[in-house]
Amino acid sequence: MGVIVQKYGGTSVGNLERIRNVARQITKTYDQGNDVVVILSAMSGVTDQLINSAEQISQTPDKRELDVLLATGEQTTVALMAMTLIEMGYKAQSLLGYQAEILTNNKASKARILDIGANRVKDLLKEKKIVVIAGFQGADAEGNITTLGRGGSDTSAVAVAAAIKADQCEIYTDVDGIYTADPNICDKAKKLDRIAYDEMLEMASLGAKVLQIRSVEFAKKYNVPIHVRSSFHEEEGTMVVNEDANMEKVVVAGVTHNKNEARITLRKVPDTPGIASKILSPISGAGIQVDMIIQNTRSGNMTDLTFTVSKNDYQSALDISKQTAKEIEAEEVIGDENIAKISVVGVGMRSHSGVASKMFSSLAAENINILMISTSEIRISCVVEEKYTELAVRTLHNAFGLDRTE
Ligand code: ADP
Ligand code: ASP
Ligand code: MG
Repeated sequence: MGVIVQKYGGTSVGNLERIRNVARQITKTYDQGNDVVVILSAMSGVTDQLINSAEQISQTPDKRELDVLLATGEQTTVALMAMTLIEMGYKAQSLLGYQAEILTNNKASKARILDIGANRVKDLLKEKKIVVIAGFQGADAEGNITTLGRGGSDTSAVAVAAAIKADQCEIYTDVDGIYTADPNICDKAKKLDRIAYDEMLEMASLGAKVLQIRSVEFAKKYNVPIHVRSSFHEEEGTMVVNEDANMEKVVVAGVTHNKNEARITLRKVPDTPGIASKILSPISGAGIQVDMIIQNTRSGNMTDLTFTVSKNDYQSALDISKQTAKEIEAEEVIGDENIAKISVVGVGMRSHSGVASKMFSSLAAENINILMISTSEIRISCVVEEKYTELAVRTLHNAFGLDRTE
């Protein structure tokens, strides 16, 4: 018996029959004597449809109004779920983000949670109600509705779990747990029983969308163990937890890929102090995050500078770079959207050497050219041509001994 937070993703609540199935699962947990708080996503595809409608009105829809629109996806599912639970004879109530007192900053479409005053949630739990909260949304200090970025319901769930000091935070999704690679592109991927917060942080930031990165940051900060599992059966999934000594023994825990980046190269830039800052400051000034950066030295006091940004920001970053190129008299600006970042991740890398050379030689053996490289203490990433994504993931998965054998 305890306080349990359960989050169900878009596929799990994708139609009324699935909502009924999820409702039965919720009531099962409730009937065991637990307090249950449910966080829901919009039905699968709905957020994309809403974005598409907005883009038919404007290529740059007003950000405040876009968030008002996007939040309706989750408003629909929580109302349908609460109705279903009530129809089944249970006490239940839906809460929108602001009603659950989810306070965020005012960065529309990528707001960050600042605080959750979960008083109303706690009061409803005292009344023995099942509380059904709209994920992905909150409100800023002025009461404007905000959304938390794609996949943000995961973060809502973990943040609510931390705020009400839940005993468990379960993330129900359309896969059985966290795998050594995206099971949709690597059929030899294995389900992990456990993964360290730091590994999951890297994997989430490198393209494994099974958990939104902010949710893992919250979980680590407030020590909330997350159980990622399937909403379609009862098998145990993957626990995301603090690192332990056994985890260090595994060098590479997983391989991830991200096709959502593009790269920009400024060719023949004068190699003088302050040049990188001249190129990159206007980019960050426009609120665009730069991921990888490399600078190649050429002969004759000239250099090439290459960096990557997310595909959403590609066009703006390209326009800004063309402007800068004129100012600093660079020869030309080249953009490339057909790239993918492939990464290997593992806390064991701290104590094992040779991971990078194995990664590079495995890719070379498949004739995959490496365009850019970056590393951290527990990961190595290579940018390759997008068409090699699947081959690169499978090759590295095999090279690091992660393939399922049966
Ligand atoms: P939900 O709608 O439940 O939030 P998401 O689509 O956001 O589900 O996340 C689940 C998806 O994450 C899976 O269908 C899978 O394709 C993808 N994914 C990427 N990398 C991994 C991984 N390493 N392990 C499990 N799933 C992964
Ligand atoms: N519905 C939102 C999305 O599609 C939030 C979520 O599913 O977590 O990104
Ligand atoms: Mg998701």
